Amino acid sequence: MSTTTPVSTTVLAGLEEHVHAAAVPTLVLLAAHVTGDLSLLRPEWKPSAAVLPQSGLDPATDEEARAVCAARLAEAISSGEPWPNQPTEEFLRAVADWALDSDDDDIAALLSVAFVAEGTDPRAPRWTIDEVAPDRPFRAIVIGSGIAGLMVGLRLKQAGIDFTIYEKAPHIGGTWWENTYPDCRTDVHSHIYTYSFQAHDWPSYFGRQEVILDYLTDFAKNNGLLEHIRFNTEVSDATWDEQSSRWNVGIIDPDRKAAVESADILVSAVGQLNRPMIPDLPGLDGFSGPAFHSAEWDHSIDFTGKNVAVIGTGASALQFAPTLARQAAKVTIYQRSAPWLMPTPELRQEIGESERWLLNNLPLYRSFYRFTIFVPRAIGQLDAATVDPNYPPTEVAVSEANERLRVLLTGYLTEQAGDRTDLLPKIIPDYPAGAKRIIRDDGTWVATLKRDNVELVTSAVSGITADGVVADGTERPADVIVFGTGFRASDFLTPMTVTGAGGKDLHDAWGLDACAYMGLTIPDFPNLFCMYGPNTGLVLHGNVVFFMECQANYVAKSVELLLREDVHSMSLTQEKFESYRDEIFAASAHRVWEWSGTHSWYQNAAGRSTIMWPLPTWDYVEGTSEVDPSHYTLNERNHR
Ligand code: NAP
Repeated sequence: MSTTTPVSTTVLAGLEEHVHAAAVPTLVLLAAHVTGDLSLLRPEWKPSAAVLPQSGLDPATDEEARAVCAARLAEAISSGEPWPNQPTEEFLRAVADWALDSDDDDIAALLSVAFVAEGTDPRAPRWTIDEVAPDRPFRAIVIGSGIAGLMVGLRLKQAGIDFTIYEKAPHIGGTWWENTYPDCRTDVHSHIYTYSFQAHDWPSYFGRQEVILDYLTDFAKNNGLLEHIRFNTEVSDATWDEQSSRWNVGIIDPDRKAAVESADILVSAVGQLNRPMIPDLPGLDGFSGPAFHSAEWDHSIDFTGKNVAVIGTGASALQFAPTLARQAAKVTIYQRSAPWLMPTPELRQEIGESERWLLNNLPLYRSFYRFTIFVPRAIGQLDAATVDPNYPPTEVAVSEANERLRVLLTGYLTEQAGDRTDLLPKIIPDYPAGAKRIIRDDGTWVATLKRDNVELVTSAVSGITADGVVADGTERPADVIVFGTGFRASDFLTPMTVTGAGGKDLHDAWGLDACAYMGLTIPDFPNLFCMYGPNTGLVLHGNVVFFMECQANYVAKSVELLLREDVHSMSLTQEKFESYRDEIFAASAHRVWEWSGTHSWYQNAAGRSTIMWPLPTWDYVEGTSEVDPSHYTLNERNHR
């Protein structure tokens, strides 16, 4: 892999033409990196971390920074010297100091993994089975071909491992295949909702569902993953066979015939948000019209002239309900609790031509652009989600930082309501910010609620009749009901039956509290790995795609360990599991999403969070960077 990037002088004219659209922090970092001149990290150009990738500076200062940096880059391009790919440690420490006022070693380490030069893949396995254990037959089974399953598939492929991905759908993509509701898009910036080593020419700042699906499809095709996927094939159960030290995996093939396949390791990449939850409302069976969940959108319905009931006001409903409001005669939205909204003006904006030119043509620009989005979000606002024991707790704030966030977000909602002050008691949440997902908004939500054909009902739905929905003792007519009521996120790995060593059933072992070391491994379930497993969800910090890269790295390193040590199984020790679980549960108990008792999919039926990562991002990156053999019991096969 090359350590430098050649830069053609043909870029010069484009740079001059398009530099006016450059994100200033990206340009400053690029110029300082390429020239090695750290004095370009000028104090007066320091970005405001909260608004990255933009600078937050006044337009004149932005212009000055662009002009100076473009001139320095033009000189560097004209010199004909290739540009170094990887920033130096000195550079990264200077950046941490300049942009984040930090000299923390963990932050410096985070910055070093955060930057990925385009065309490089620093976490790809540096070994293959042919080199490490050429005579050893070894097979992996992966369940699911969503963004996590494809990621782990790539790592297995790179290591030359024989593997099959079983996918119950007829297509790759998981959640991005299933969710096709109107205006479905990611609420994570496109450039970090991307594998770090596989940049993309995103047309919008927040990728639309079909564009993400295309990205994943191309990724699977270009990396030779499609030939490993068996579509329309569902995994029903998996049983660890102690004699052979292999997993026997029950599948239901496309002809609905049951079969058993076996493998040395089993990787679950089944996702968390793919089991739709429709509440068990009295009378629902007797509803005369169509009623469906947002993840199972009925595209045959023309909403024109219809009376539509939308139940739920989570991330999905806030995306599809505005479109329904533009089409239907009336939309009644049933809200049990109001969502906090994160102002995001660019949520539905396309990326302009000049900015796209820079992203696609100016070498390393897109890598630094991703870096400026990734880093502040990786550090995130965990402090604002942490309960301060010295802060007098209230029902709406758990610390001073959390209160500051509440005030900020309340200000946004108040501004959105404008002269419709009657909306305020309905739209300002009565629980702390961060207790459930804060939903990105560009002004569309409150504008929708202000429409004449939209009614916001703030009482829980008590029942359904043949022609309507009952709440606050009133029946309101409905021709169609759309459930935006979320998913059974805490039911990890269901509805599969997973049986480990000694005949142990995984769901019995877990009870309500699913837990796996780093979300990945579980004692008595040797050679089983969970992608996006318990406590790897993210709320106010981290990056879900990068966490999946960390998980895939850990799986690949585990396979390497099994092969290099010539052992056949690795089982997490009970001791390691318990110390990890105690740490995670103790931290979760002091995070706003668990402590506040606010109802959400972040909590299980016992009120505990088995969903969210409660520690700093770096702890996860570091904890998954290597496999420590002392955490596992390594065994020879019982029977060959
Ligand atoms: P959700 O966040 O779980 O929201 C479910 C909504 O349904 C909530 O408003 C909930 O009310 C309500 N609800 C649940 N049961 C109800 C009942 N019995 N009666 C009345 N209301 C009920 O689900 P979601 O909107 O599908 O989103 C799930 C997650 O998927 C998101 O948090 C996000 O992580 C992900 N997602 C991401 C995107 C994106 O990237 N753009 C888009 C969609 C979803 P309460 O709040 O009172 O419980």
